[in-house]
Amino acid sequence: QNNLLSATGTTIFTVMSALAVEHGAINLGQGFPDYDGPEDVIEAAAAALKDGRNQYPPMSGHPDLRQAVAAHNRRFYGLEVDANAEVIVTSGATEAITACLMAVLNPGDECVLIEPLYDTYLPVVKLLGAIPKLVRLTPPKWELPRAELAAAFGPKTKAILLNTPMNPTGKVFTNAELAFIADLLERHDCYAICDEVYEHLTFDGWKHVPLMTLPGMRERCMRIGSAGKTFSLTGWKIGYVTCDRSLAGNVTKAHQNLTFTTAPNLQRGIAVGLAKDDSYFAGLSSSLEAKRDRLAAGLARLGFGVLPTQGSYFVTTDFRPLGFNGDDVAFCRTLTTEAKVTAIPVTAFYASADAPSHYARFAFCKGDAVLDEALARIEAWL
Ligand code: PMP
Ligand code: GLN
Repeated sequence: QNNLLSATGTTIFTVMSALAVEHGAINLGQGFPDYDGPEDVIEAAAAALKDGRNQYPPMSGHPDLRQAVAAHNRRFYGLEVDANAEVIVTSGATEAITACLMAVLNPGDECVLIEPLYDTYLPVVKLLGAIPKLVRLTPPKWELPRAELAAAFGPKTKAILLNTPMNPTGKVFTNAELAFIADLLERHDCYAICDEVYEHLTFDGWKHVPLMTLPGMRERCMRIGSAGKTFSLTGWKIGYVTCDRSLAGNVTKAHQNLTFTTAPNLQRGIAVGLAKDDSYFAGLSSSLEAKRDRLAAGLARLGFGVLPTQGSYFVTTDFRPLGFNGDDVAFCRTLTTEAKVTAIPVTAFYASADAPSHYARFAFCKGDAVLDEALARIEAWL
């Protein structure tokens, strides 16, 4: 059947995870922890599952979770939001991204996207009949090319999709970059869909700053979080959108038609999670920072060019210094089938074939022994 989805292939994460299973490879491709989330969160969800309240929760989300999201916004970012009118719970950030794009884009509207980009953005923008305007960051520093970004905005621009901390680059946008974006949004009267799923995974003293907290941005931003990342529970698929009430109606209508509601017991577990004390959130980032250091140092020792990572689950590497003769897809396939370690080719995060093709992304959200074993396997293969 030929339709708007025909151009969309199977996601690279599924492709590489399947290849990892087939070859018995350690999967440092798809970003999911190999350790469990906090016990009290899991206990709370299990208790909720047993207490017999297993029917549809309210469409916008369980009241406990909506309150918890509002309290989390106040605690970490000083954002005052009405839990009843400005928070929508979704089935993962994936749904939230689609719902927010649906909430603001009409066919023919332009939407600014920043490359390299997470792989659901482009297909959804296109499905909505909107026109993607791509702006590319340049490695190794992934700085924002301001003149190019400004030139991407025009009379038809309706929105920008901003991912910080960013997958796959590990970039955390600076305050100056955010201020530049905010100024463009005001000048062109646009919205921002803010994919902030890695908000609590920043390193080296980098702090995540939601674009929504900048002057004038409260009513223009839809801020997206994910319990998968914040509580190492990626399979639960609980996401949350925070936005002004003037946008929340449309986001809710989109959610109504996409999934309508999200598992109530898991929502109650995450409500407990978001109320955890500050030490939980600090501990999460420091434990991931140590894993980043472990993998980054190990890959550098083996000869990879390792790009800096300020946040997220990922480290990007340049494999050219190893002398590998092929592109990133060939490298990641060979690494999987021969070294028995899986990584993701970074060209999967670009819209066109002229992308840089010598980078591989490794996920470090794994047990230390697993990271060490992966490094040992690569060393043995080299
Ligand atoms: N955005 C980014 C940048 C991601 O890396 C991911 C991957 N997990 C998602 C969104 C999707 O999040 P979720 O699993 O909550 O749908
Ligand atoms: N966000 C994860 C990654 O980038 C994958 C999530 C998915 O498989 N859809 O690896």
